[in-house]
Amino acid sequence: MSDLKNKRIITVATTGAWPTKKDTPNVPIEPAEIAREIYDCWKAGAAVAHIHCRDDEGRAAMVFEKFEETVRLIRERTDCDIILNITTSGGVNLREEDRLRPFYELKPEMCSYDCGSMNWQHNAVFENNPQFLEKLGLMAQEAGVKPEIEVFDPGMIYNAAYYIKKGILKLPAHFQFCMGVAGGIAATTKNLAFMKDILDETVPGSTWSAFGVGKGAMEIMYAAIAMGGHIRVGMEDNVLYKKGVVADSNVQFVERARRVIEEFTCEVATPAEARQILGLKPRA
Ligand code: ZN
Repeated sequence: MSDLKNKRIITVATTGAWPTKKDTPNVPIEPAEIAREIYDCWKAGAAVAHIHCRDDEGRAAMVFEKFEETVRLIRERTDCDIILNITTSGGVNLREEDRLRPFYELKPEMCSYDCGSMNWQHNAVFENNPQFLEKLGLMAQEAGVKPEIEVFDPGMIYNAAYYIKKGILKLPAHFQFCMGVAGGIAATTKNLAFMKDILDETVPGSTWSAFGVGKGAMEIMYAAIAMGGHIRVGMEDNVLYKKGVVADSNVQFVERARRVIEEFTCEVATPAEARQILGLKPRA
């Protein structure tokens, strides 16, 4: 077996909650579009797909049927062994039961776990209250779904350490450093090093991935690869491929991530390798 230390996982977040067809006609919104895009991203090197769906008007929503259709369409492509990670957020001000249902019933291998509340982009509270986080952690254990612990600032890492101690989250833990969102930590190399140091001290042995929203996107990608982390790309985080240029597709982001990883003389993890790195069961 090749050395897993040299492998980097590419997660693709194709859709997210915010970009609309007005922002970019290239963002996939309908289940069939999302499923097709995820398949193409898998072919290009993505090992994990972080999935959001929208309602019929394209708005941020947790409509169970949309997730069900999207997941079914991906699973129908039986050659595609990408790891599915279903969001438990989907936007702000959504009902908790709607946030909990898709991962619990559809049983992807992973789900997101936003480890604290924050003022989102200066316009709303992104609420993940303690009771919700306890419920989500226990339901994920019950469903056999591994949480990806999303942290938007260093305090959320300490929050995660608390939930690990309480048995709400299990080890080994996997973190996603979400950087550059207004209301959270800025997307800089210095901040990433700080976050990684805190993680190594508080939850040693964890795996981690990172992304930057906006102008810090490339800096975080290069820095994360250099620091031994994994990376996330896609239109959930950035609709611009570079300044002033709208991305053609999510595949374009995955292809660039692959080139950067390979130029660094690392290798892109396959989904099977990503399962080993993340401590997931091999695919049946
Ligand atoms: Zn998301």
